[in-house]
Amino acid sequence: MSLRETTKKPVDKLAFVRQSLDDLRKTGLYNQIRAIQSAQGSWLLVDGKRVLNFCSNNYLGLANHPDLRRAAMTAIEEYGVGPAAVRSIAGTMDLHLELEVRLASFKGVEATIALQSGFNANQAVIPLLMGEGDLIISDELNHASIIDGVRLCKADRAIYRHCDVADLRTRLVEANEKGYSKVLVITDGVFSMDGDITPLDKIVEACEPYGALVMVDDAHGEGVLGKGGRGIVDHFDLHGRVDIEVGTLSKAFGVVGGYVAGNALVIEYLRQRARPFLFSSASTPPDTAACIAAVDLLERSTEFVDHLWENTRYFKEQMVKLGFDTGRSQTPIVPIMLGEAPLAQEFSRRLFEEGVFAMSIGYPTVPQGKARIRVMMSASHSPDDLDQGIAAFQKVGQELGVI
Ligand code: PMP
Repeated sequence: MSLRETTKKPVDKLAFVRQSLDDLRKTGLYNQIRAIQSAQGSWLLVDGKRVLNFCSNNYLGLANHPDLRRAAMTAIEEYGVGPAAVRSIAGTMDLHLELEVRLASFKGVEATIALQSGFNANQAVIPLLMGEGDLIISDELNHASIIDGVRLCKADRAIYRHCDVADLRTRLVEANEKGYSKVLVITDGVFSMDGDITPLDKIVEACEPYGALVMVDDAHGEGVLGKGGRGIVDHFDLHGRVDIEVGTLSKAFGVVGGYVAGNALVIEYLRQRARPFLFSSASTPPDTAACIAAVDLLERSTEFVDHLWENTRYFKEQMVKLGFDTGRSQTPIVPIMLGEAPLAQEFSRRLFEEGVFAMSIGYPTVPQGKARIRVMMSASHSPDDLDQGIAAFQKVGQELGVI
């Protein structure tokens, strides 16, 4: 007789899920996801309320740009809406190939491969290049998609302290002594929760004597750092010295998608063997065409990137003057450090009442005690938008005793 038959009580098979959700609520970590009812831009309609948008990754304001909309609509007329297959079987359209060539030229690399998302790009490249007998050395604050990519392969793992090149060198020396067949050092370019920039120049210098491969995830540097937004490799003038760049088309580029950029051989290998390329359908024609239009805009002018940085400088200056702590930020990602998650949640809720949409971020996305409101600057913000946002932060900050 089975256990179920003897007890006769229905078994609550999902009790563990209920418990986990209750725990999240109790500890103030339950994420209330708001629904956006308008197009992306500096103002949004959220839960029926018009609010200033301080939390999207739409760095350059391209998510609703007329050129990208037009390109997407034209692609729908010509190609329809779906790719209908994975890239390696019958899903590669000439649009995908055009995007790859255009991205390679924009980034100044030999070749690129376009994937469905930045997340997928990390899942594609890390397990393909690394396996048993290899070592991956990773910054302790690397993005979840890097961590998951690393988990997908059988290589050994080591962590170095955040942006600490001396600690990385120690890991490289240890790796050398152990005689791994390959070593790959992986880092975010711009860290998405703190907005700090990895010292990629120093990392490359540390790796070169050991022949260690270097990979950077440039998700938040794309369209932000470097000449006209060409990214972190351009920012540090490291062309040809970084082996693998992972990029996203879902942030500054304003659409959705990802890519891997680098040496033509590596890209050819990815086309043959990368699992998200072989086993998950291609990006849609309108997405792909809109990405090409984004590259067009970025190649034509630096105006969007320049405006993003003007806004960033102004906002940070004013917030620091008011007494807010913006942490380690060096980029348009501006964390407003608050400490405990319940305070950050309350701060975000009050900001929303004041007409500002800026989400709180707590554990496990950031360490316990490091909860914050993460403000994301955009080229689409006008000076008035910024002043309104700053005034709301001042009001709520004083009310909650933060400043
Ligand atoms: N890498 C980093 C560093 C990111 O911040 C993100 C997005 N949060 C990704 C990869 C994933 O990009 P995508 O949204 O295109 O999947």
